[in-house]
Amino acid sequence: MKAVLITIGDEILSGDTVDTNSTFIAGQLKKIGIPVVQILTVADETDIIRKALQTACSLADLVFTTGGLGPTKDDRTKTAFAQFFNDELALDETTFQHLKNLFIKRKREHLLELNRPQAMVLSRARVFQNENGTAPCMMMDEQGKLVFCLPGVPYEVKPLMTDKIIPFLTERNSVNHLVTRSVSVVGIPESLLSEQIESWELALPPSISLSYLPVGSRIKLRLNCSGSDLEALSAQLDTEVKKLEPLIGDHVISWNGNEIQEILKEILITRQLTISTAESCTGGAVARLLTSVPGSSAYFLGGIIPYDYRKKIEILGVSAQTISEKTTVSAEVAQEMTLGCLTLFGTDIALSTTGVAGPSTDEFDNEVGTVYYSIRTKSFEKTQKLHLPHLHRNDFAQFVSQRVLQDLV
Ligand code: ATP
Ligand code: MG
Repeated sequence: MKAVLITIGDEILSGDTVDTNSTFIAGQLKKIGIPVVQILTVADETDIIRKALQTACSLADLVFTTGGLGPTKDDRTKTAFAQFFNDELALDETTFQHLKNLFIKRKREHLLELNRPQAMVLSRARVFQNENGTAPCMMMDEQGKLVFCLPGVPYEVKPLMTDKIIPFLTERNSVNHLVTRSVSVVGIPESLLSEQIESWELALPPSISLSYLPVGSRIKLRLNCSGSDLEALSAQLDTEVKKLEPLIGDHVISWNGNEIQEILKEILITRQLTISTAESCTGGAVARLLTSVPGSSAYFLGGIIPYDYRKKIEILGVSAQTISEKTTVSAEVAQEMTLGCLTLFGTDIALSTTGVAGPSTDEFDNEVGTVYYSIRTKSFEKTQKLHLPHLHRNDFAQFVSQRVLQDLV
């Protein structure tokens, strides 16, 4: 079984709305082993939608459309469906009752009549009621094709997919399972990595697909395999992953694809260590990453963002002389920041960042993209310099925070 997705809406073509529906639907279908072979985005125009339906049905047995179901005149999807399937729109009493309940619940009864057209559905359609909006999902089951017509609003699409359509498809078909293994690799460029595992990659069974996914400064190797026997699939993937050990074992920081903050959590909890942060150029991104894991309060005691150089002096005890001699963007300041941070929070480990996130240079004329970070324990200190002039502020903070935690691991 293969699927084609059609997203309908002028606002997507004009770049005003990012199509997140396709990403979501494709992800859901992947979980039940249905590959998407094409995603089309089309305008709110009856002819164009009809032609897209034609193309989609010629390519796949499963088609999803989203958008253009509203009661306003700019929404044309229903008309296009009626023409394509040579069917008529008729008032569906169950849907109308559902709408009525929805409007009562929202204390908007006075708007019910205006929304009556929303209860008009194709006469041959099966309806999946929309618990979060007024446009129901229609499904046509004709000539071996299943065509789902979904609303455009993402928070309506998501529950319709997860609670109604996916269970429906799972029950109807003997669905495949998709099994995934991820291995996180650090300290080796993608090109070199692919060279080192080339023979392994070439020998992978055709049922397993491999992708290289760069995440910050790590590379995630992801293996996918689909089929009906869940246990056999898992065993097959485990066997292949084990073969990587002699090839790149030294570079692997996680054999189960865990995120860096999760890997760190395991280490810190096992060793009963605490950690704190003093961040300048990353503006709290390191602390954010650390605290994105549930249970992080067991080891993360706190962090500060002494952005102004005077605050580095005042709060962390960085010496004014070091700042005037070396500027705030220096190994020395990063080191003094962790020293102060360790004292301030009384943790076993302290992390600091100081740099120029850009786009313009700082008051000391340091080069944009320059960062120093320090990792300190009571008996150890390591400072590292990075140069990342090509990254925008947010990407910069994300990259640096990933890198700092990775280095710590
Ligand atoms: P409604 O019943 O609310 O009118 P609809 O089915 O007519 O829903 P649209 O009018 O096309 O849907 O879109 C409703 C909202 O959902 C808009 O804000 C639109 O930008 C957003 N939206 C539509 N399609 C997508 C998509 N593919 N990805 C993300 N957002 C989308
Ligand atoms: Mg629309």
